[in-house]
Amino acid sequence: AAAGAPSHAAGHTAACHRTAEVAAAHADAGRIFSLPVIPEHAAAVAASRTDREPVVHVEGLTKTFPLVKGAVFRRKVGEVFAVDGVDLDIRRGETLGLVGESGSGKSTTLHQLMDLERPEAGTVELFGESLADATARGAAGTRALRQRISMVFQDPSASLDPRMSVYDVVAEPLRAIGAPASRIDERVPELLGLVGLRAAEADRYPHEFSGGQRQRISIARALAVEPDLIVLDEPVSALDVSIQAGVLNLLAELKARLGLSYLFVSHDLSVIRHVADRVSVMYLGRTVEEGAVDEVFERPMHPYTAALMSAVPVPDPVVERARTTILLPGDPPSPTERPTGCRFRSRCPLFAILPEAERRRCETDEPEKAPRRGEDVDHRAACHYPEKVASIAA
Ligand code: ADP
Ligand code: MG
Repeated sequence: AAAGAPSHAAGHTAACHRTAEVAAAHADAGRIFSLPVIPEHAAAVAASRTDREPVVHVEGLTKTFPLVKGAVFRRKVGEVFAVDGVDLDIRRGETLGLVGESGSGKSTTLHQLMDLERPEAGTVELFGESLADATARGAAGTRALRQRISMVFQDPSASLDPRMSVYDVVAEPLRAIGAPASRIDERVPELLGLVGLRAAEADRYPHEFSGGQRQRISIARALAVEPDLIVLDEPVSALDVSIQAGVLNLLAELKARLGLSYLFVSHDLSVIRHVADRVSVMYLGRTVEEGAVDEVFERPMHPYTAALMSAVPVPDPVVERARTTILLPGDPPSPTERPTGCRFRSRCPLFAILPEAERRRCETDEPEKAPRRGEDVDHRAACHYPEKVASIAA
């Protein structure tokens, strides 16, 4: 390796002929984001969470789809309980990570928020306003809310129209709210700059960019209408691991600078640990545990969470070797049936070892979310025996 760039500390070298350029590019990337945080946002997110502005507050959200059979004569034969008791709480400047196996209802939950329809059951409050009240006022009632929430999808190639230039992709949401052309001309380069792209790239087409850059374009588009909340459904899952960090760091920078809140879905728990302030765990359409990210990862209260967490690799090899992975038998039950009692018990490693008398409760009573006895109400889980969960991981 040649000597490192002059700006680097002695002893920091790299096997690259162009270290100086890498360092310059790095410094350049730093400059894009070195603008000061807007003081109003800094103040808004400095307060303790319960004093911060509520962004999303959902209780007992439900969404069912008709279960249809037959290709020619389609008939309804039942229902899919896709979302069946979801609770979410997000404050200004916070990232809530939403986790759960495939099919647990994460995407349906996000779409329920995005659609701004009156919920089938349960309550949805956005920015302190009840969605039921807003929808009762018709289109005018939801127009303001619609502008405050944007969405970023998993696969940027599928969500960006290949016939539209980057300029049009980013301008579209602005046109949709009737922004004047002069304002859009100003705003598009500004937005591209925010996500680390050059203004000159506005004339190119999405397919000319790499996956990571395409996701930056989607983020610029999501930021166009100056939302307060961005809902992200597996935003980095389609990207190479080497590219993920750049996009995650960009999201963190934007959150700090703009005082944004994120509802972030990922099946990758390492990503959730990195980005989220709080976590909400779903099983079969229902929220089974919620709390601050470190609390939930380090002291899970629900056996399902404990099993999920036991599969996350730990960087410390000594700890890693000593750990046991909790295996869950079988697949989740079909969401077309609503099991009685605890819906996790068919796969629950704790239920499997409980004495008969204690099992009865799991079979008959649906557990309500509650904190550990005598502990912070902020960390809650829907298990009848949270104090025994540690024993299944041992
Ligand atoms: P996740 O995002 O956690 O993988 P989804 O929200 O996509 O889960 O799906 C939850 C459940 O709802 C699944 O069983 C899925 O098959 C079902 N589902 C989702 N959308 C529909 C739909 N439009 N019609 C019928 N069933 C659906
Ligand atoms: Mg999904």
